[in-house]
Amino acid sequence: MLPSTEYVEAVERSLDSKFTFQCHKDISCFNKCCHHTDMLLTPYDIIRIKKRLGISSTEFLEKYTYTHIDEKSSHPFAVLTMNQDEEGACRFLTSEGCSIYEDRPENCRYYPVGKGLMIRDTVDGPAPVDFYFFIRQPSCRGYEGGREWTIAEWRAAQGAELYDEMNREWQEIQLRRDNPGKPKLDDKKQSLMYMASYDVDKFRQFVFDSGFLDLFDLETDEIEKIRGDEVALMKFGFKYLKYMLMLEETLKIKDKHIKETKSVG
Ligand code: SF4
Ligand code: SF4
Repeated sequence: MLPSTEYVEAVERSLDSKFTFQCHKDISCFNKCCHHTDMLLTPYDIIRIKKRLGISSTEFLEKYTYTHIDEKSSHPFAVLTMNQDEEGACRFLTSEGCSIYEDRPENCRYYPVGKGLMIRDTVDGPAPVDFYFFIRQPSCRGYEGGREWTIAEWRAAQGAELYDEMNREWQEIQLRRDNPGKPKLDDKKQSLMYMASYDVDKFRQFVFDSGFLDLFDLETDEIEKIRGDEVALMKFGFKYLKYMLMLEETLKIKDKHIKETKSVG
């Protein structure tokens, strides 16, 4: 979810932290959490949902999301659009529950747990470390009973581990860019970041149908892998982001272009 602090408990938790919770179809608050919510999406969410719906990432983003620009970092994020009536239900919600349940977004899986990433001092020096917190919306009756969970158990039961693994590199990019020393992104970089993060079909065209492969030196194996495998293409998007945001020299410009640049200079 977008970091609305209203119901976020200001206590940092770990994977071992325990809580009592139950969520089922007969609970009085069933689906209350799927209304008026700002559900922030991750790159792997889009891969899963667009595949389920049988549409392109571009179509999915146009039909089901809006763009939120984070004020502090200037990074663009895709957020699920809710119905614009008074009820404000998620557009994937039906009377039976979530219509994309098996492919629901990472943040829906974690709820009522929230997750963040921050740089911490570790034995190996400063490194990104996960932290967790509870979201305690008064309308959610889930905390009133049920079994005891650790956050690790909850995360596994909700299938969130795979999502963490898929999105980790992207989340670290956000973290590395999100500090006072980094300049704000201009419109062009925001568009490129949005495309490489979320719009995998547009990014495919960018890589294969523009001069990208003529400009950058990529191994044939890597080209074939990202041509046929959407998750590999998503991860290549993270590699491109590191280069484009000048975090790492993850891509190499072909020698002929370096020579051309020098001779023009
Ligand atoms: S995607 Fe599904 S679980 Fe998430 S808010 Fe929408 S209906 Fe609820
Ligand atoms: S218990 Fe909480 S998470 Fe479950 S349906 Fe109710 S509001 Fe949603």
